[in-house]
Amino acid sequence: MSLVENQVVSNQLQNTVVGKTIVKVVANQNPHTFVWFATEPQYAFAAAEVSHKQAEQYEALLTGKVIENSEVHFGSYSTYNFLYVGDRALMFSLPTRYYAPGEKPPKRHQLYLVFDDGSSLALCGSLGGAVYLFRVDENGLAADYPPPDTPSVLSDEFSESFFLDLIKNTDLAKLKPAKTVKCFLATNNRIPGLDNSILHEILWEVQVNPKSDMAALGEAEYKRLYAAIKKVFPAVIAAGGLDTGKDIFGNPGTYATQVSRNTLGKPCGRCGAPIIKEPHLGGAVYYCPKCQPILKVKRSGF
Ligand SMILES: [Zn+2]
Repeated sequence: MSLVENQVVSNQLQNTVVGKTIVKVVANQNPHTFVWFATEPQYAFAAAEVSHKQAEQYEALLTGKVIENSEVHFGSYSTYNFLYVGDRALMFSLPTRYYAPGEKPPKRHQLYLVFDDGSSLALCGSLGGAVYLFRVDENGLAADYPPPDTPSVLSDEFSESFFLDLIKNTDLAKLKPAKTVKCFLATNNRIPGLDNSILHEILWEVQVNPKSDMAALGEAEYKRLYAAIKKVFPAVIAAGGLDTGKDIFGNPGTYATQVSRNTLGKPCGRCGAPIIKEPHLGGAVYYCPKCQPILKVKRSGF
């Protein structure tokens, strides 16, 4: 999930489930190879049988507890939503749906919590993800699960000089698995929370192609990229998410995407050329072929 999705979900959870008491817990109703349960960090991303065994403890650990707060934190691999319950945090990176009292829950889910007022919360995920229930330390972070050093793009610490240093301190000629802008910005948790969905909106803003070589851009473009990151993230959060995503009530966000499955084949909002979709780095990239040209580093003369 991207930081914006986490943040939109977190804001909504704050207003819907914080303060409620959990009266019923169903964990791992629909076992999935890539949904991981763990009550201690040493079991994180463990084999399926270990994970399924861990899930059996969730009912006892959560029943009768009050949801005290909702926050977003970085983990080693992803951003997580945190729901604080007693001395533990339920950390998850799965699509989340809230159901008002009387509303029917989904048939399949990974974790289902029913609250004292009859409302409920379901974590579902066909693509997989983590559903951890770790103890938290005095800073409210999950014990033994240190976040990466990179500051949140939403914070002041994520400054222009920080971003330029991040580029300068990376050997762009040796970027793996590709030397591209998408690889630099949206893989390896280099910039936590910047994922494939918001990447395309940022790049469209600055007319940079996701398949361009990162080293083919100059400092002026890096600065414009930074400005776009700082502009698009808060704008999407304020809009309640992208129009390609869904919030915890099942409604799409109101941020009108420029380059996404919603605009594929439609005229670019800037130049009118049809938006295209291509595979790149194990996912799709969307861009305008006219105003986001692909720039490659010129090979030396051999
Ligand atoms: Zn265009």
